[in-house]
Amino acid sequence: MQGRAEKGPDVTTIKATCPTCGEVELTTRDVALRVCSHAPLSYYAFDCATCGCEVRKPADGRVVSLLLAGGVPAQVWVLPEEVLEAKDGPRLTYDDLLDFALHLGATDLLAALAGAAPVS
Ligand SMILES: [Zn+2]
Repeated sequence: MQGRAEKGPDVTTIKATCPTCGEVELTTRDVALRVCSHAPLSYYAFDCATCGCEVRKPADGRVVSLLLAGGVPAQVWVLPEEVLEAKDGPRLTYDDLLDFALHLGATDLLAALAGAAPVS
């Protein structure tokens, strides 16, 4: 987003950039602002009227402030805590995933365990 300008008393024009079409003009109704509990993941999105692509761009504090001041409503979303947890152990590999998928197809044990009462 490169800024905004007033166009008449009731219409705020927001200038943003589509990666395909370049600079496009939007109204507040064209823009969705998603503010995340983990600020670096906040973003705004719009559907480009020219090419039809959905464009998503990061929204830092300045962009969030500009969009809010322009009348774009914010929708807050919360990042699940486990996303930011430190991960211990080796990364899963494709072989691990394939083994898991094959195991799921070969046994009902997991389904039985999922429905089983806790073992005391
Ligand atoms: Zn476009």
